[in-house]
Amino acid sequence: MGALIVVLAFRVGLPLWRPVRHDLRVAQVSSAGPNTWSIMLSGRHLERLPTAGAQFMMWRFLRRELWWQAHPYSLSAAPQAGHLRITVKELGDHSTALSRLAPGTRVAFEGPYGVFTADARQSRNVLLVGAGVGTTPIRALLDDLPGDTHVVVLLRGRHSEDIAHLDVFICGPDDFTRTVIAAARDAGVPARHIHHEDFAF
Ligand SMILES: Cc1cc2nc3c(=O)[nH]c(=O)nc-3n(C[C@H](O)[C@H](O)[C@H](O)COP(=O)(O)OP(=O)(O)OC[C@H]3O[C@@H](n4cnc5c(N)ncnc54)[C@H](O)[C@@H]3O)c2cc1C
Repeated sequence: MGALIVVLAFRVGLPLWRPVRHDLRVAQVSSAGPNTWSIMLSGRHLERLPTAGAQFMMWRFLRRELWWQAHPYSLSAAPQAGHLRITVKELGDHSTALSRLAPGTRVAFEGPYGVFTADARQSRNVLLVGAGVGTTPIRALLDDLPGDTHVVVLLRGRHSEDIAHLDVFICGPDDFTRTVIAAARDAGVPARHIHHEDFAF
């Protein structure tokens, strides 16, 4: 009996209570690349959610044709005051429908789940490897890593447009900077996504 109460509390009660408590709603849907959409969610007391960048949740969008199914999507940015963000690539019915969500749509969720967090880090040297829309939790993890982390990010996409959210930041000697800028441009990174710091005055 005790086990049943715990299961009902966590599987039914908590998912029903949280949307009420946090009043989570779609704030904005914007393009993050071909067939890929960033969905910004806003709500109350989100800072009290025990979540970190790169974890995932089971999301249930409370719209007529979607409310009955919950799908996993990772946070694509570290949680900010009042906002959460996910980034979704259109693959099938559910993920494609999300591009048409209207602002104000209520959102229920279960989670967070997953151990893909900055806390799991065992050393200051970190290599983050992502592919396709798998870059989204990588982006969130980057937000959360402590400032003393030496981080290398390796992303793979069939096409350069498949790599959502990543800007290129370059800092180093002039020749190095020029070479990396040229390589990034050749790879299709738009100029406005390339940032460099000149260490010359
Ligand atoms: C822990 C976790 C985190 C995730 N985070 C994200 C995220 O941040 N952003 C995002 O866009 N997606 C993410 N996904 C994948 C996402 O959950 C699915 O793409 C989505 O639920 C598919 O539902 P659908 O109804 O749109 O497509 P379906 O009709 O269920 O599937 C459409 C097609 O895509 C294939 N497919 C479905 N899921 C996957 C998959 N995971 N990998 C490869 N092929 C698949 C199916 O075989 C089918 O051919 C995550 C999945 C997991 C398990």
